[in-house]
Amino acid sequence: MSCANQPDGQGDEAVVMPRRKRVYQREKGVCQRCRTNKCLYIVRSVTMCRVLTSSGCFESAVRVSVVKSLHPPLLPADARSAQPFPRPTGANVLLALSAGAGSSALADLVHERYVGRDGEVRDTTRGQREAVWERGWAVHVDFSAVTGLPSREGLLRAFAEERGLRFVCVRAEDSFDPLLSRRVAALGGGTEEGSDDAEAVAVRLDEPDLPLLSTPSSSTATPLESLQALLTSLPPPSRPALLAHILDGLLGVVAHALPNISHLLVGETSTREAQRVIAGTATGRGWALPLELASSAPLPRAGRTVTRIKVMKNVSLKEAAIWCHGRRVETYNERRWDGTGGGARRDARGKGATASIEALTERFIAGLNVSHPSTVTTINKTGDKLCFVGEADGPLCPVCQLPVDASAIDWKARSALTSLPGKGDGVAAAPSADPLAPLLCYACLTMFTPLTAAQKDRPTAEPVPLPLWVGARVQERRHVPPSELRDQVAQFLIDDDDE
Ligand SMILES: [Zn+2]
Ligand SMILES: [Zn+2]
Repeated sequence: MSCANQPDGQGDEAVVMPRRKRVYQREKGVCQRCRTNKCLYIVRSVTMCRVLTSSGCFESAVRVSVVKSLHPPLLPADARSAQPFPRPTGANVLLALSAGAGSSALADLVHERYVGRDGEVRDTTRGQREAVWERGWAVHVDFSAVTGLPSREGLLRAFAEERGLRFVCVRAEDSFDPLLSRRVAALGGGTEEGSDDAEAVAVRLDEPDLPLLSTPSSSTATPLESLQALLTSLPPPSRPALLAHILDGLLGVVAHALPNISHLLVGETSTREAQRVIAGTATGRGWALPLELASSAPLPRAGRTVTRIKVMKNVSLKEAAIWCHGRRVETYNERRWDGTGGGARRDARGKGATASIEALTERFIAGLNVSHPSTVTTINKTGDKLCFVGEADGPLCPVCQLPVDASAIDWKARSALTSLPGKGDGVAAAPSADPLAPLLCYACLTMFTPLTAAQKDRPTAEPVPLPLWVGARVQERRHVPPSELRDQVAQFLIDDDDE
């Protein structure tokens, strides 16, 4: 029955899957790479010897994986095949640290050879290479205020400073702090980025077209209160998606506020990447998913361009964890984004635990990875085949800052059971109706939509504040020539809109 029973190349039923390398019985205790040392780990069906020395098989395998994703975006287009060492960029680099194994291994791997230190002179005549980046910054986004986990700021500060990286810690609630970019710029010794403060906006989630309101400047809510208000008013399964956008948004703000940053390195492992493929597809992120998965992509923001590189894209969480264990680096992989926002509402069956698609996928992949070790690779290979078919410079979704699909509302109107603009009675627009819904991508529109159309699930009429970049993004979208914008949204416009 299985293809393995057929002789190779027989007729058109040729076996196309490469056969898996077997670990032969007689080699079982020996490293398959050097064939001398005793093996300790099995990584992707290959046995490897212990870490400890820099020429160890495991260590060199990880380094090769890192070079494969780190070098190509740093090399000129015509040099990609040769894999030379990248030339100095003359700029600085920002590393995202989460305290997880992926980002900790990334910082540990990259800091020595690629990032310069203050006052350090490299002797290139003795075979030392010039650092690719003049200085390294590390940023940590602290979610402890909403997740209830202990803050890892102190641990990461010590970890980063030991490796010659300057450390910045921002909190999730800083996404509502209009002074954030100025504060971060001041840390870097700069003073710019003052013009960033677009008007802070709030949204009414009870209306299907999500009208935007400007937040009164007299509002006394602290950033943390604003974040909690937004989280609480979203359906519980939507909250992890919002936190993921807040993470990306804050990394973008910090990357632009610090001086002369050319690259943002993130430690997303292949395991996390596989979760992104499955959860992203399930939550309706399919349109921009190829851009999310790309190993290098520009951060969406006007002005200076920063490129985000997923350095650990070819390294699994297991490998990263082994690396950190070998280097005695303390790591914490738990995010606990489920059940944030205070008092998760109980569902109809009285169960309190909220399971978001993100959390379910994480558990599913972790479980499957034990019994079927090639799961992650297979999912990622499928994800890598996805191509983005839209225009790269098309309009961006104000919330997730990725290109929007052309017909999110239209599509939802045909497929969803919840109330929508043009349906039902809830569209009596205020005089200054400024709907957010037509600007959103499908996934973000879903994120703001109540789970059911039942009255008890409807959010309160109280407007809730949105992260600070949403207002700026909405303004940017408004600057699109009106005729073009009207064409884009013509079919979604509400009749009594006087714009
Ligand atoms: Zn070996
Ligand atoms: Zn979006």
